[in-house]
Amino acid sequence: MSSVKETILEINLAHLTHNYNYLRSKLKPDVKLLAVVKAAGYGSDAVVMAKHLEKIGADYFAVAYVSEGIALREAGITTPILVLHPQPINFSVLIHYQLEPSLYSSRVLREFIAVAEVEKQKEYPVHIKFNTGLNRIGFWEDDVEYIIDHLKKTNTIKIQSLFSHLAASEDHNEKEFTINQINSFKKTASVMIAALGYTPILHQSNTSGVLNYPEAHFDMVRTGIGLYGYGNEAIYDNALKPVASLKSIISQIHMLEPGETLGYNRAFKAEGFIKTATIPIGHADGIGRQYGNKKGFVTVHGKKAYIIGNVCMDMIMIDITDIECNEGDEVIIFDNTSSAAIIAEDAGTISYELLTAISPRVKRVIIDNN
Ligand SMILES: *Cc1c(COP(=O)(O)O)cnc(C)c1O
Repeated sequence: MSSVKETILEINLAHLTHNYNYLRSKLKPDVKLLAVVKAAGYGSDAVVMAKHLEKIGADYFAVAYVSEGIALREAGITTPILVLHPQPINFSVLIHYQLEPSLYSSRVLREFIAVAEVEKQKEYPVHIKFNTGLNRIGFWEDDVEYIIDHLKKTNTIKIQSLFSHLAASEDHNEKEFTINQINSFKKTASVMIAALGYTPILHQSNTSGVLNYPEAHFDMVRTGIGLYGYGNEAIYDNALKPVASLKSIISQIHMLEPGETLGYNRAFKAEGFIKTATIPIGHADGIGRQYGNKKGFVTVHGKKAYIIGNVCMDMIMIDITDIECNEGDEVIIFDNTSSAAIIAEDAGTISYELLTAISPRVKRVIIDNN
């Protein structure tokens, strides 16, 4: 019998420390490390991640939305928090919680200055985001004059950092494009610095930028997936340790005869005598329908068991015909040895999506061996 009694996401803090130290070892000593804890700390638990990372020395945090930053402040996090993608409707509450906005367009810059004036702020720290080729959010290189003009008219804000984001830092075939992004950021940053008369923090690298482009580390790096144990490449995956393990148990075992079908819409049809197990995890827990019909697999007693039929809201069924196992036995969806990156890839997606999809109803169990 297994020690796991229901579906759980185990969160290993020693692994988080290991990954943090590994990523730090790639940086020059004076480069700051910003830990990205958006999307519930990539599906783990943002508060637990941030508290641990604050303790071991993270210099900065980033979240995507203002509500995520508020949750960290309310849990007692005091480290600076960059909000990567805020909306003007939340600027006033952002200021109340001492969160630092990414300002990524003329509209957003104007709106933030207006709110900061109403809130009687002086030199409120903001971060200016430049688009160097991802074409997602950010000012263009030729917006520098506009930004500087607006800054000259107000003392409500002060630029804490200038940053940009790489589009393909994990893709070695896109090296030329990435180098162009790095050079474009360098150029824009130097024009900004000359006009400002002071030097904000510069940052451009995500995890794969940390690993593949030392020339893009600048003053700070923003690392997310690496902290959670994935490096977008086998050599880095091997050096890192997955923080989260998703585990469940066998609820019930069925024997099917040839011709019998299983699950909704009878998507699976037994060709021979087969043994199936039903597991209490489904698409409402974050195992999407793309993992059904043998695109995804789990591990039972070290053996691969394919998900058969359609994924249900609260259950999956797996083929255990060739596996010795019983009701109540442990099932690994992903862990240290069965990587979320592989499972995601087999189903046509990436570790990021699989991890961040794990819904709040899956119980988080923290393992802290420190
Ligand atoms: C999510 C995000 C990151 C983190 O990327 P990883 O690949 O997970 O390291 C960094 N910067 C920005 C702007 C992001 O949106």
